[in-house]
Amino acid sequence: MDSNRKIASLLRDLASVQQSAQSKWGYKRAASAILGLDEPIEQYLLPNGTLRKIPNIGPSSTRVILEVLQTGRSAIVDAAVGGSPHAHDVERARGLRENFLSRAQVVAALADKRLGGPRLDDYRGDLQMHSTWSDGSQSLEDIIEAGIARGYDYCAVTDHSYGLKIAGGVTMEELAQQHVEIDRLNRKHRGTFRLLKGIEANIRADGSVDREPHELATLEIVVAAPHSQLRVSGDQTARMVNAVKTRGVHILGHPRGRKYGARPGVTADWEKVFKAAKRSGVAIEIDGDPSRQDLDYDLARGAVAAGCTFALDSDAHSTAELRYAETAIAHARLAGVPPDRIINLWPVERLLAWAAERRA
Ligand SMILES: [Zn+2]
Repeated sequence: MDSNRKIASLLRDLASVQQSAQSKWGYKRAASAILGLDEPIEQYLLPNGTLRKIPNIGPSSTRVILEVLQTGRSAIVDAAVGGSPHAHDVERARGLRENFLSRAQVVAALADKRLGGPRLDDYRGDLQMHSTWSDGSQSLEDIIEAGIARGYDYCAVTDHSYGLKIAGGVTMEELAQQHVEIDRLNRKHRGTFRLLKGIEANIRADGSVDREPHELATLEIVVAAPHSQLRVSGDQTARMVNAVKTRGVHILGHPRGRKYGARPGVTADWEKVFKAAKRSGVAIEIDGDPSRQDLDYDLARGAVAAGCTFALDSDAHSTAELRYAETAIAHARLAGVPPDRIINLWPVERLLAWAAERRA
């Protein structure tokens, strides 16, 4: 395991056994800072054995980092966890951090020429993101500007569907208004950039989605994703198979619904789900939100073997988060996803023709 990931995990362990809310917050913030570094932590070590200053990392966290760099483990964390009534929770959380990449690992995977898979330069557009129309902080115009700045040809706006009230899910009326705005912006940027009309629909417990077929037909890109039953341990293969068989669905978004150190997400016979997705032509998403990384490279290899098509998306809620697509690309490279099977690498005409087929 790379040191950044290992140290972040230990700092999260330490956070969960703190008494005061303030030290909990401090260790969590330090863990995020380490996970977000572009370079391996080893490069911050100075010749005198101290650490170069890293924003948001205080003296107590620095002691843990130095311990790990010197001994490969942390006696401080072992002692704190061992003596805590929350030791069991720590153990459980550790099991929920598997196959998550640190930003440094993402950067390394993108640069590693020995890996096959997609290259960042070939990525043409992002197909899951949220705007101010639901729970995002980026306007449609912001998305276009940020997309152009990243060299994209298109992005799909996929605000949450009305079934997800907690995330400000959009109604059909709001969606119609949004489409008028998208048409206006697309006229303005014709020939340079195209915003696609999308939605992130919810997969209900029975595998149906919270949009009627005629509603799905008004959208260019439909992501269907699970947002409930993500902490239950029972098998949900039937739910996920039903979802990918639904006409009008293009992408199975963050298929597991897992969260870093917090929840395992859906349990399913993924081979069956992938085979059903392959049969119906639904793309399997690798969601690049660092706290999701869903699918991860390990599970994605199963979808590669099943012959699936893939979508690599940021799930951005702000323009700064557009770079989360890089996390998805890194997982795809580690999984060896053939570039031609990644819909984000296709020209927009091919993408739209493929999407129209799924609606027919
Ligand atoms: Zn979602």
